[in-house]
Amino acid sequence: MDKQTVFDVDRDYYMPVFARYSIVLTHGEGPYVYDSEGKKYIDFLAGIAVNVLGHAHPKLVAAVAEQAGKIIHCSNLYYTEGQAMLAKSLATASGLDKVFIGNSGAEANEGAIKLARKYGKAIHPDKVQIITAEHSFHGRTLATLTATAQPKYQHGYEPLPGGFDYVPFNDIAALEAAMSDKTCAVMLEPIQGEGGVNMPDQDYFIKVRALCDRYGALLILDEIQTGIGRTGKMFAYEHYGIKPDIVTLAKGLAGGVPIGAFIASNKVASAFGPGDHGSTFGGNPLACAAANAVINSIQEEKLINNAQVIGEYLIAQLNALKEKYPALISEVRGKGLMAGAKLTIPGREIVNSCMNQGAIINCTAGDVLRFVPPLNITKGHVDEMTAILEKTLAAVQL
Ligand SMILES: *Cc1c(COP(=O)(O)O)cnc(C)c1O
Repeated sequence: MDKQTVFDVDRDYYMPVFARYSIVLTHGEGPYVYDSEGKKYIDFLAGIAVNVLGHAHPKLVAAVAEQAGKIIHCSNLYYTEGQAMLAKSLATASGLDKVFIGNSGAEANEGAIKLARKYGKAIHPDKVQIITAEHSFHGRTLATLTATAQPKYQHGYEPLPGGFDYVPFNDIAALEAAMSDKTCAVMLEPIQGEGGVNMPDQDYFIKVRALCDRYGALLILDEIQTGIGRTGKMFAYEHYGIKPDIVTLAKGLAGGVPIGAFIASNKVASAFGPGDHGSTFGGNPLACAAANAVINSIQEEKLINNAQVIGEYLIAQLNALKEKYPALISEVRGKGLMAGAKLTIPGREIVNSCMNQGAIINCTAGDVLRFVPPLNITKGHVDEMTAILEKTLAAVQL
């Protein structure tokens, strides 16, 4: 099918919610994807921080193929080895205790919100307030878009669920002023992703943790984007020397197979009993086999270390571009292989122009170029991408 036909069929039959780029992707290999005309792209978006092993990673392909040939799904009425072992890996890696597996990020956060409410209400019927941060992103279900403190995601969907309050990110005084014994949870991203790769001060989360402890509120960390090695640690909270009560995961966890998970301490997880939460597909054998393969590959290939080392190189190269084009790039920020370059102009044209030259990157929050490549890239891949970005920036300057 030629690409124009795909565009036409999509326009006629797909809900018009996405502003897509005008290419049809067909396959990938490692950090590259190919379009329907055979054009090759270096992929520094990785399906929005999802394809942590790149494309068509042999171990992930084999694990999914093998599992598909055995059993894809059997419901949660029965035990499966893959699910039990994935729960053990995630509990062990996080330092928490109990895991629930769903199918997406929004579902993971939705489950975390439900668990926090149950936990809070058992202490006092009014302990229901959930505080989130401005410019956050937590998903598209009604509760998670209410947690997402950005009006553009909420507009048109009112009435929204109650009990949510918002504070500026990285403003401890504002959080303190909003909290009380009625606060059941504070829910934050360790580094805001969709909001523009916004970094907190190094001591912000220590103070957040202390406030949560003072008010008996749970700290929920949304690591859907930052987790699974992205920032050069398995979980981004390891950078801050704290531990949450609940952490949520999704994007990179199964390398592209739909999955989401939330992990809680025993104290918190015990608020749930049989029948309190559930999922038909969640934690099915296929998704768990993929996630187990991803976690094994991350360990075997030392990808957390790679994310840290190559991430430092990426940020250094972006800073070099900032030095060279100070009129276009005002700030470079990020940690590991989660980097942002704040522009002085809207980013969409830059992204488009890079795409035309064979590099896939992304723009978030209107003017922040975001780089969230596979975790197994090399310095050479960074050079490939930044060379294209530099050509694009040079053309803008003319
Ligand atoms: C992507 C994302 C979500 C939503 O995940 P979906 O799988 O799209 O529902 C939630 N929180 C953060 C931090 C994300 O980056």
